[in-house]
Amino acid sequence: MSAELGPADVTLRGRFEREHERRYTHVPFEVPPGVRQIHLRYAYSDAIGHDPSLVGGNTVDLGLFDQRGTAPGSPGFRGWSGSDKTEITVDEAWATPPYRGGPLGAGTWHALLGPYKVGPRGCDWTVELWFHAGVVSPERRPTSASRPPPAFRSTARDGWLRGDLHCHSIYSDGDSEPPEMLGAAMQAGLEFLGVTDHNTVAHHAAYGSGGAPLPVVLPGIEVTTYGGHWNAHGTERWHEFREPDADSVGRAMRAAMDEGAFVTVNHPKPLGPEWLYGELPCHAIEVWNGPWLHLNAVSLAWWDDRLRRGERLVAVGGSDTHHLRRTDPTPRHAQAPGRPTTWLRAARDAASVLGALRGGSAFVSASPRGPQLYLDPEAGRPGQVRVEVRGAAGAALLLLSDEGCTAAAPIVADEWDAAFDVPARARYLRAEVVDGAGSVLALANPVWAEAV
Ligand SMILES: [Zn+2]
Repeated sequence: MSAELGPADVTLRGRFEREHERRYTHVPFEVPPGVRQIHLRYAYSDAIGHDPSLVGGNTVDLGLFDQRGTAPGSPGFRGWSGSDKTEITVDEAWATPPYRGGPLGAGTWHALLGPYKVGPRGCDWTVELWFHAGVVSPERRPTSASRPPPAFRSTARDGWLRGDLHCHSIYSDGDSEPPEMLGAAMQAGLEFLGVTDHNTVAHHAAYGSGGAPLPVVLPGIEVTTYGGHWNAHGTERWHEFREPDADSVGRAMRAAMDEGAFVTVNHPKPLGPEWLYGELPCHAIEVWNGPWLHLNAVSLAWWDDRLRRGERLVAVGGSDTHHLRRTDPTPRHAQAPGRPTTWLRAARDAASVLGALRGGSAFVSASPRGPQLYLDPEAGRPGQVRVEVRGAAGAALLLLSDEGCTAAAPIVADEWDAAFDVPARARYLRAEVVDGAGSVLALANPVWAEAV
């Protein structure tokens, strides 16, 4: 594509120093009247990947605002692609995902540049713009979700659904079209899918609403800031991500909650990337992101700590699947929807799933095949809970309260259940299924003392 572009109409240059790291800058440029397509290419010195384990060079993120301005919530936000794409096209009729096509107004536009990492030699950057390049919309490979779902979906308790709350498509740094991701989730046996591309809602139209035999789609966004990521489920708009301080991030999360979104702090663990804003109000913590052994014990401990101090936060899981077509060179994420899986009792529609998440009767398991871990107040026996475990013979059950581990038992059968007393002063009781090495195979949200 680049070879045919010819000289740029506008070239912008600048430099980031170390002190600019993780601070967005808005670079203005003038779009003349009558423009029907804008092509943007950017480059910078000492480029390295965005993975938080890579250091010593530069990573610069890109976004775009049109003439309607850069204010929080502005309708002029045309998209954000992180460092995933070095060239984008925004045309009246189409755009490079996740950017939005549509009319191109004359006036001052802004390229949003975010120096996520600035290395020791600083970062020299260039943005080139073409206003009449005539780039043709690339062909997108068709995808199909036509194979029937697998047969094991009926093994959950009646009325329980399984799903994944975190995945990425070509609308951010994933490699698959939304229908392909939805089809993969169906093949995995999932009944709902939270779709959470970074700093965009442009993927929602491509996903549609799902529904049997496909998973129900929970529209959402992964708000991606330089001090941590949070998911808003059940939202149709972009949320402010540019100011990486706790006050701004807390305000944006609060606004999302006030509008009815279900808000989760994502992967609060080293290399998650981690969460640097402390204990901001939210509904849930993603205590399990990708393979368990990728430091999820740190996220679990943080959730547990907040629970013990009385915060009623829901534990959820998300695979953070990015790649269905190629192998991830840095496999921090599961590349399979449903690893882990979040299970909850709900009807098969987005509103019901969001309601069940808010209610917090959910558990998280390693995969859509389980193990299943149901924790309920014992009917007719005040002060007791009943635990039912399916598919974990040979593992162990741990019961934990704000006072620590209160009971442990071997799980001796594939379909196993038992009743336990809630200790007198415990404020809640929660459950984990662990293997012989202590890895978590499933974990259930707490039953609070007033419910038993
Ligand atoms: Zn994330």
